[in-house]
Amino acid sequence: MPSENPHVLIAGGGPVGLLCAWLLGRRGLRVRLFDDNAAPQADPRAATTHPATLELLAEDGFAADMARVGLVAPIFQFWDRPSGEKVAEFDHVLLKDDTRFPYVVQCEQFKTAQLLLERLRKFPNVELLFGHAVADVAHSADSVSVEVRGARNMTTHTAAYLIGADGGRSTVRKACDIDFEGFTWPERFIVLTTPYDFEARRGYCYRSYFADPGAWCNCFKVSADGPPGLWRTVYPTDPAQSEDAILSDAGVQARMQSFFPSPEPYEIVHRNLYVTHQRVAATFRKGRVLLAGDAAHVNNPIGGMGLNGGIQDAANACDKLAQVLRDGAPERLLDLYGRQRRTVAVEFVQEQSIANKKRLEARDPAARKKNLDELRAMAADPARARQFLLRTAMIASQQRAAAMTLEEA
Ligand SMILES: Cc1cc2nc3c(=O)[nH]c(=O)nc-3n(C[C@H](O)[C@H](O)[C@H](O)COP(=O)(O)OP(=O)(O)OC[C@H]3O[C@@H](n4cnc5c(N)ncnc54)[C@H](O)[C@@H]3O)c2cc1C
Repeated sequence: MPSENPHVLIAGGGPVGLLCAWLLGRRGLRVRLFDDNAAPQADPRAATTHPATLELLAEDGFAADMARVGLVAPIFQFWDRPSGEKVAEFDHVLLKDDTRFPYVVQCEQFKTAQLLLERLRKFPNVELLFGHAVADVAHSADSVSVEVRGARNMTTHTAAYLIGADGGRSTVRKACDIDFEGFTWPERFIVLTTPYDFEARRGYCYRSYFADPGAWCNCFKVSADGPPGLWRTVYPTDPAQSEDAILSDAGVQARMQSFFPSPEPYEIVHRNLYVTHQRVAATFRKGRVLLAGDAAHVNNPIGGMGLNGGIQDAANACDKLAQVLRDGAPERLLDLYGRQRRTVAVEFVQEQSIANKKRLEARDPAARKKNLDELRAMAADPARARQFLLRTAMIASQQRAAAMTLEEA
């Protein structure tokens, strides 16, 4: 290990922690990252990366690499499952004057992490310590230290700043006594992945949302190991049903058949069940500690905004840390990070992801009709469709954050 202390410690080697390591490493800062897993995880969770996030990842061809290993998806659709009607279609081409990326990229998060790891190998100033769990945090006026549990012993590491990117159960957040305000949905979400070609056989595009008063569904395509790719379907589950019953072959087939009847059984290549929360940390900065990614905010996956928010945190935090550490900018800039990103998490990501869920699951016939009529009307009017896309593409939230000033922080 280098004899000098790092400038920044990072807890967590998921996509957000790795991105922070790359963004700081690129700016010449010394970084030490800890992850409790023995090796990077082949995590099947996030895939959809929105235009506002691709803008932040344009440097060094990163967004282009994500598109190369993923799928480019300019269109998304809303369907009414009981009637089988396609209710609305939105094309990101309407954002062609707002972004260089008028599409989303469907890139599984383990591939994003892999692309980051490849780049990080080139940085001698970045140390990645897998198999190391951050166990505690201690602050002083001019430094922060972490206690780290390795395979053989506990060690202490000190730096100017610590980024807690250690996921929804963040040890850093708990060690800093920061509340995680919000709630947990009673129903768990199941993701069933199949090679069944929903585009060829049913005419669905790469991102399709199905409203249903019984149980909604999201269906989207990922490239997986290359053509022909895989389709992920996401559903809510009955809180009274046991995990074994939900994940059993019979349970999985029944769910697929009830939504998408087919004469043959479905081939299922992955089945994953998730507890889903809507929570935001009470603050994203406490002294020399910044929270980012799921450590700072979690939401349901409808609309695909969780990791996007985490990537936006990373870009914002690392830019400001570099200004403070390298260019002598005032530390107060880090308060602006907290204000900007927490505002976006509360006003946009929480609000939109909850609204997305309610729109798909509405049971009252009048409410359902209103929701679907509203989607139809927006899709039919290019000016309204663009306003809707500016929000779903997370451009509006980035604009809101950019308008906030240091004086407000
Ligand atoms: C079904 C599903 C679909 C999703 N789809 C999307 C999508 O399409 N788009 C989107 O933007 N988001 C999506 N998300 C959300 C996305 O998966 C998360 O927001 C993302 O994983 C957050 O990344 P992270 O790096 O902050 O946290 P994580 O991925 O959780 O990584 C945290 C890392 O920290 C490590 N760690 C934990 N504790 C410690 C410790 N004490 N010391 C050291 N290391 C530690 C963990 O092992 C892990 O490696 C989805 C989520 C789910 C469940």
